Amino acid sequence: MDIKFLGGAREVGKSCVLVDHSGGSTLLDCGIKLGAKEDQDRYPHITKEMIKRIDSVVISHTHLDHSGYLPHLYARGWRGKIYATKPTRDLMQLLLSDYLRIAKEERDPEFTQKDINNIMKDIEYIEFREKVKIGKGVHLTLYKAGHILGAALIRLEDRKSSLLYTGDFSYKESNILDKADSDIEPVDALIMESTYGGSGKTIELKTNSKELAEEVRKTIKKGGKVIVPTFGVGRAQELMLILDNYIKSGYIPKVDGFIDGMIKKANAIHRQNVIYAKEEIPKRILMAQENPFDSEYFNSPQTKSRSDVTKNDKATIILTTSGMITGGPVIKYMEELADDPNNKIILVGYQVEGTPGRDLMDGKKKVTLPNEKEVNVKASVKTLHFSAHADEKDLIKFALNIPKPRMVFLVHGDEEGTKNLNKELEKKELETYIPRLDEEFRI
Ligand SMILES: [Zn+2]
Ligand SMILES: [Zn+2]
Repeated sequence: MDIKFLGGAREVGKSCVLVDHSGGSTLLDCGIKLGAKEDQDRYPHITKEMIKRIDSVVISHTHLDHSGYLPHLYARGWRGKIYATKPTRDLMQLLLSDYLRIAKEERDPEFTQKDINNIMKDIEYIEFREKVKIGKGVHLTLYKAGHILGAALIRLEDRKSSLLYTGDFSYKESNILDKADSDIEPVDALIMESTYGGSGKTIELKTNSKELAEEVRKTIKKGGKVIVPTFGVGRAQELMLILDNYIKSGYIPKVDGFIDGMIKKANAIHRQNVIYAKEEIPKRILMAQENPFDSEYFNSPQTKSRSDVTKNDKATIILTTSGMITGGPVIKYMEELADDPNNKIILVGYQVEGTPGRDLMDGKKKVTLPNEKEVNVKASVKTLHFSAHADEKDLIKFALNIPKPRMVFLVHGDEEGTKNLNKELEKKELETYIPRLDEEFRI
C-alpha cells in the first residue's frame, strides 16, 4: 500500500490520509482545521486528480477535524461509499449541519445541506470488529477507540500489507466509554495520533473531576458564573455527568445550570446509541430508569440573546460549545461575562495555537474573538486537562501493545511534541516517522 499524508501532519487538524491499495484508493478521515484562515492550512490537500480516483472514505469519528471536509468533497463532485459506525453517522449529521450554519455566518460555504444529505445516504454502518470487504482483496475492520461515542480505530489490509490508523483514541476507561481496543490482528504500519505526545502530561480522570468540582464549587459559592467551553460531542456529556454527580452529592451547591450549542441534541443521540457506551451505562438506564445523558440541573437557555443566563446575579454553570472558542454560543458568553472577576472560565481540552482558547490558556488578558470583538479577561482562567486522548504513557503503551508494526507514523500532534514522543518510541526499538504534509510512503 502507498500512503500519503494530506493533513494532520505535524499539526492537530485536517486529519486525512490517502491510501492507494490493491483495490483502489481510500481516504482515512477527511477533516478540517478549525481556526485556520487560509484554505491551504484549513483544508486537506486533496487534488482534483485524487477526487477522481478515491473510491471510499472511512471516518474514524465525528469531530470536525476528522469529518468536516466531507461536505466540501461532495461539493467538488465526489460520490462514493463512506464507512463509519452508527453513532458516528448520527453525530455527524448534527455536527455537519452545525458546521454549515457557522460557515454561513463566517464565509460563503462552498457546500449546501444537499451535500450533507448525500453524505448521509452514502454512509454504510459497520459494527466494531466486523471484517468488511471494501474492494478487491481489501478488508476493513473497525475497533473501539474510546475517545467519543462511536470512535473507531481503522484497520485496513490488502493482499500485500496492512495498517492501523488510530484516529483519536483514549487508552483509559471514561465515565461513558471503554478504552481503546488493542487486541488487534498484526499490522505492518501503525499511524498513531500523538496529541499529548512529548507533553509529559498524564491524564487522570478522577483527579481532574475532583479539581473541576472544586473550581466550580468555589466560584458558585461566591455567586459567580462558570463558563466551560467544550466540544459538544463526547466531552460535554462526560462533564455533565461528573457535575451532575457532584451537585447530587451536595458538594457543588444546587444551581440552575445551562447547556448550550448542540449539547442537548448530542445528549439525545448518546441516549439513542447507548449500546455503544460501556456496559454499565445501558444497565443503569435499564435498572434505575435513569438517563445519564439528561440532568435536571442543566437546561437550555430560554432566550436567543441568552439574557436569562447572563443578565442577572445568579451563580451558574454554563457548558457550551465550542471548546476552543472558535465559534458557537461561547462567544456570546465571553462577550458578556469574561470581564467580571467574579466569574471563571475553565478550559478542559487541547487548545490549538491561534485560537482564542489558546490565548486564554497562555494567560492573555485581552482576547480577540472570531467576530473580531476584543474582550478584557478579568474572570479567572483555569486549565484542566480533561482530554479524551491518550496521554504520553498511554501512547507508548498502546504502540507496544499492537502486534509488531514495522513502521510507526506519528500524526495529529504539534511538531515539538511528536519529536519528543518519537525519541521515546525509538528507545523501544520502534521504527518511527514524523510525516510532513503531502509526504508519501510505501508500506
Ligand atoms: Zn476527536
Ligand atoms: Zn482529532
